[in-house]
Amino acid sequence: MMSSDEPELDASDLDIELEFPRSLDEMLLPDVYIGLEIDLLSPGDGIVTDRHHASADRYEADDPMNQIEGQISPFTLSGWLRHGCEQVLQIAGASACHPGESDADYMRANVYERDLESGYHEKGSCLDDHDDGCVVYDLFGGFGDQPGKLLRRPVSFSPIRRNVDVLQGEAEAHYRQVSNQVRSRNDEDGGKPLRQADRDVLGNVEGTWKLTLRELKPEFVGLLLEAVSFLDLHSDEFAFQVGGARNFGAGIADVRVLNPLYSEQEVRRVFNRAQATTSSMEQKDAVWASECRPEFVRALQARTAARDGDLPMPDGGSGGESA
Ligand SMILES: [Zn+2]
Repeated sequence: MMSSDEPELDASDLDIELEFPRSLDEMLLPDVYIGLEIDLLSPGDGIVTDRHHASADRYEADDPMNQIEGQISPFTLSGWLRHGCEQVLQIAGASACHPGESDADYMRANVYERDLESGYHEKGSCLDDHDDGCVVYDLFGGFGDQPGKLLRRPVSFSPIRRNVDVLQGEAEAHYRQVSNQVRSRNDEDGGKPLRQADRDVLGNVEGTWKLTLRELKPEFVGLLLEAVSFLDLHSDEFAFQVGGARNFGAGIADVRVLNPLYSEQEVRRVFNRAQATTSSMEQKDAVWASECRPEFVRALQARTAARDGDLPMPDGGSGGESA
């Protein structure tokens, strides 16, 4: 046993033994780096820039010299990641916490009831079966006093690659403000614009979203691994694109969890176009895929089986939708 003040992978609540070929201090955990590549992202309101540093009349949206930096708020990304997590549970035959309150004012009637019949349970009702609730409730938090175990940071972005530190959850990205003009279709109006809508977009987003587990349960890692694989595989489906403007190709995200066995230097190397993968990284990729990832996924299966007696407990070392 490790001493109690060292972080450890706590599997004590799961009825299975987990075996990892590497110790926790050889992993980046409790930090989890999500590698992001998004050609076009329209995060809606969730963007803050330093554009006010440039005076309004000097700002030219298409000036390649406008070196605007800023932050993508984690709310858009979090909702998208959570949606992926819900899918993973539902595919496994379990239900997930509904993200909304049952008495919220939904824009369409019966939305909540309908969702409860298709893979969701009422938010927090899972607390009746398990002290910590379902794994989505546990990870993302529930009602006001239950903060969740996953710290989701904003992603800072810059168009200047050397200003981007992927170990801090930063990305290279190019900010533009795009104006849509809705023009009149009526001949008499001569195509005059009826209204103008400005939209913040980011082009060529490449970097990391840094997540940190406040509590290191192996099933959390398993859920994040499976959800990110799912989102990557389904990235061109409307429901799993991230942010707005999805009909226009925005929000198609190539995503992966960076190998937690990598050193910090190796994480940097992934994003350095001048440097290739080393043989040490390739070796770690093989160990991760064959011996570590399946253990984390097995922990997730044990957690869902413990809550829902109809689901099988995992036996061997494999399972889940691996990638
Ligand atoms: Zn729940």
